[in-house]
Amino acid sequence: MTRSAFDHTFAAISQLIEADPDLARFAPFDPAPRAVDRPPNPVPAVALVQALAAGSGPEYAALLAAIAAVAPLAHWRQTYTEDEVGRDFLNRYGYFELIGPAGHFHSDRTRAYIAYWGAGLHYPWHLHEAEELYLILAGRALFEADGQPRALLGPGDMSYHASNQPHAMTTGGDPLLALILWRGAGFDGQPRMGRE
Ligand code: ZN
Repeated sequence: MTRSAFDHTFAAISQLIEADPDLARFAPFDPAPRAVDRPPNPVPAVALVQALAAGSGPEYAALLAAIAAVAPLAHWRQTYTEDEVGRDFLNRYGYFELIGPAGHFHSDRTRAYIAYWGAGLHYPWHLHEAEELYLILAGRALFEADGQPRALLGPGDMSYHASNQPHAMTTGGDPLLALILWRGAGFDGQPRMGRE
């Protein structure tokens, strides 16, 4: 039961990546990775993720349904502390690693996260060694990155961040649900707050 929910999510993401040349070029991954049992670690945002998935349009419908089903079972994480981002942020934010060294499916090459931010949150400037690609699945947010124009992104849009390129993100009236891919040196590392 639990496993099939993860399998459905993996299958939906695989289809998405195979169908999109930009995604496939960025992060080709093992089509049959080893499944890893990780304990559920729900965060307060799980109910918000499910509400957003249920209320979204037909784009990514299969993947959003799979994410809603797997959300209560996933090993959610929050990289940041209350000191860094505040309690309200932590109540309405979370991500889980679907694929990667600490994921529900093992990979030594790439990481794939599902991440959620509630409406009206500012995700402060941060950076990391890994290259990163966001694909917006539902909702909307303003993306900023050093050397790039600010961009309001919605479903189907992507945002690429080079290695150690500082970036920030702000949600307005809508929350945001994104697929985030990491690759390259430092793909198994962590972001750090700051702009340099
Ligand atoms: Zn990032």
